[in-house]
Amino acid sequence: MAEQKIAVVTGASSGIGAATARALAAAGYRVIVGARRIERLEALAAETGGEARTLDVGDPASVTAFCAAVPPALHLLVNNAGGALGLEPIAEARDEDWETMYRTNVLGLMRVTRALLPNLLEGRGHIVNITSIAGRDVYSGGAGYTAAKHAARAVTETLRIELNGTPVRVTDLAPGMVETEFSEVRFHGDAERAKGVYEGLTPLTAEDIADCVLWVATRPWHVNIDELVVKPVAQAGPGKVARNAGL
Ligand code: NAP
Repeated sequence: MAEQKIAVVTGASSGIGAATARALAAAGYRVIVGARRIERLEALAAETGGEARTLDVGDPASVTAFCAAVPPALHLLVNNAGGALGLEPIAEARDEDWETMYRTNVLGLMRVTRALLPNLLEGRGHIVNITSIAGRDVYSGGAGYTAAKHAARAVTETLRIELNGTPVRVTDLAPGMVETEFSEVRFHGDAERAKGVYEGLTPLTAEDIADCVLWVATRPWHVNIDELVVKPVAQAGPGKVARNAGL
């Protein structure tokens, strides 16, 4: 019998991370999920037969404790924890929002990756970083988030160069608009404003992105999908969306 593959998914208490954990478990992976909201994770782990562990990617001690519990051979790491805070122009930028975005989307991704690299080398593993189209384009009010996601993309590309010569694969998965808790978090809990983001169009679902993670992870071992950019049909770019067009 083939050994069961092991995956780690960060930020799995909601949205893309939770859907990815479900998709990977359904495909036969043993999934270790991490995030700050442990009750949600425990429910997910019970459902998927996986393992739930508290993880704050912004806290080095939390990353160390989380990664210490990962088995020596890891097959897939999905660096998904992250998100946006605020939509203010740079003239009104809030330091704490920018700091949090950089801490989670960039430093968190680096810390989890650095800690799990030995396990990934041992497991001939694959790193899938959930960046964003915000890592490729910019838009008014988005500088804190786009700067962080541009950095996450740069880290991902650097990693691929540094790991050349090893069997570890590195993928940059860049979604456009996905309806999750993303906008509610961005607008500091303003659900009404968050709903407006998706009005008049069909956004991607978390399951659409989970499907992409599964697809890149299940290519033959010698195939590396470097980048996968996925947007809803109604979206041409971060700031270019067709509303009420029947899409
Ligand atoms: P979401 O529903 O808000 O989920 C975000 C997840 O990240 C949650 O599970 C949250 O868990 C976790 N997280 C946030 N800060 C964390 C921290 N310090 N430590 C550990 N986990 C943390 O949003 P989503 O759309 O699924 O976002 C997932 C990823 O996709 C993010 O990196 C986001 O930037 C990216 N993305 C989203 C979109 C979109 O339109 N939705 C588009 C492109 C890229 P806890 O709060 O429980 O810790």
